[in-house]
Amino acid sequence: MKTVSKCSLLILSAVIIISCTKPNATEKPFAFKNDSLKSEIKNSSSEEFEVMKSDEEWKANLTPEQYKVTRESCTETPYDNEFYNNFESGTYLCVGCNQELYSSDTKYKSGTGWPSFYAPIDKDNIKTKEDNSYGMIREEVLCSKCGAHLGHVFNDGPQPTGLRYCMNSAALKFKKK
Ligand code: FE
Repeated sequence: MKTVSKCSLLILSAVIIISCTKPNATEKPFAFKNDSLKSEIKNSSSEEFEVMKSDEEWKANLTPEQYKVTRESCTETPYDNEFYNNFESGTYLCVGCNQELYSSDTKYKSGTGWPSFYAPIDKDNIKTKEDNSYGMIREEVLCSKCGAHLGHVFNDGPQPTGLRYCMNSAALKFKKK
């Protein structure tokens, strides 16, 4: 009887610990390379932005990977991307319009395989909006000037903001200091 009670207590404690633990840093937007998922893709191109181009113009100005990420809100593959492990000093610009988005001063190793920052260069240079795709509730991050999909922001980042701006390398250009 005593053993059963101890077991129950242990199980109950485990359940409470698991329930109270914040989302694991590895639970990230997943990558996909399957065009059949396109119906779930939210395209931001219907909104008004300072820099507006037709799909044909974007396709002409971006690589296929950059187009899929920034104009079709796809997520690139973790670790297999240009900037996740880049810790040189400099500035990250929007690949679509060259707006300054993030400084290397706020970049940190999140362990996610995507370039992660705890703050943008200027709050006005990005725009966020709720993203309910794939059965998840996330906050999408867009370039405020051209509407490029950049990634998502989560509340499990380091101080001083506690935020993790999880970006796609394909949405960024790096200007070395
Ligand atoms: Fe932009």
